[in-house]
Amino acid sequence: MTRRKFIKTCIAATGLIALGGRSSLIWAGGIFDRSGNESRLRNGYNQGLVYRPRYLDLEASGELERRERALWAKMERCSLCPRMCGVNRMAGEMAVCSSDNTLRVASSEIAFRAERVIVGSRGVGAIFMSNCNLLCVFCQNWQIAHRGDGRQTTHAELAGTMLNLQQRGAHKVYIVTSTHVVPHIVSALRLAIRRGLNIPLVFDTGSYETLEVMRLLDGIVDIYIADFKFMDCEIAAPFLSGARGYARYAAAAIKEMHRQVGTLNVIDGADSTPIANRGLLIRHLVLPENLAGTDRFVRWVVDELGADTDVSIMAQFRPAFFASRHPPLHRRITQSEFDQANRWARDAGLRNFH
Ligand code: SF4
Repeated sequence: MTRRKFIKTCIAATGLIALGGRSSLIWAGGIFDRSGNESRLRNGYNQGLVYRPRYLDLEASGELERRERALWAKMERCSLCPRMCGVNRMAGEMAVCSSDNTLRVASSEIAFRAERVIVGSRGVGAIFMSNCNLLCVFCQNWQIAHRGDGRQTTHAELAGTMLNLQQRGAHKVYIVTSTHVVPHIVSALRLAIRRGLNIPLVFDTGSYETLEVMRLLDGIVDIYIADFKFMDCEIAAPFLSGARGYARYAAAAIKEMHRQVGTLNVIDGADSTPIANRGLLIRHLVLPENLAGTDRFVRWVVDELGADTDVSIMAQFRPAFFASRHPPLHRRITQSEFDQANRWARDAGLRNFH
């Protein structure tokens, strides 16, 4: 990457909104602007301009109701994420994610500041959940993730929000940080389906997920946008509020996401803008002194998922929240660190990294 492009990237990052795994922001600029022709046949899911989310079939068959019940059961001794806190959230108990059996939503909006193939020409209907199960010390959204800013919301209200975003033209419902509240989301989704929801569902996750929950989401989620933050469990834990085994859980979860939805499927939208309706996009934030293990990350992607996997390599780390107390996270990355990350990606053979 040239110095000019790097500077442009960093300037763009300052105008971003926090869509995404809390600690990682998304490019303001479009970065997946590939031709529709190239991607048209990529994983065989392209159904032309009318895409039918699979959650509609799951609901029609009664399977979505079964999944909803299975997810709610996990709240009784909470095992919704690898922290396995075991508290009875249905009885009002809380643990690491500061969430009981109620739902808090921080905000919702039509958002354009994500990858261009995700937002298309009309934007995504982004819904930000309050609280988080990962709690990065460098969180750029700490008021929502750590402090829990937001408003208590019913399932009917959340369903109404999804429908409102669809009505306003959003290409997708885009849930930011769903892990700790996923039963609520499925309950609201079922209500919204009955009232006409029919656009793809996106989960944007920090990837600290269990395989069991991921398998329950098979057929519900159309697009996964998954952070892979660290490649080493021991290095990761102090920066993720003690999350044990982060790299191991994230690797398994992302492989399962890939099994479910494949690489990004991009079609020509109604106005010829390329738009993804299904698939996996992995985001990786480059950290100072290669703390994230970017060289290992890109090799892992190629070896485990294939060179065509869609990857965002992001430069916009800044020392937010408590990062300044955790060197080397007290500084931004340098241009040469970002250039090196891109060289690693190229040398590993990744074809769709941006
Ligand atoms: S979702 Fe929350 S309570 Fe449940 S295991 Fe994870 S951090 Fe613990």
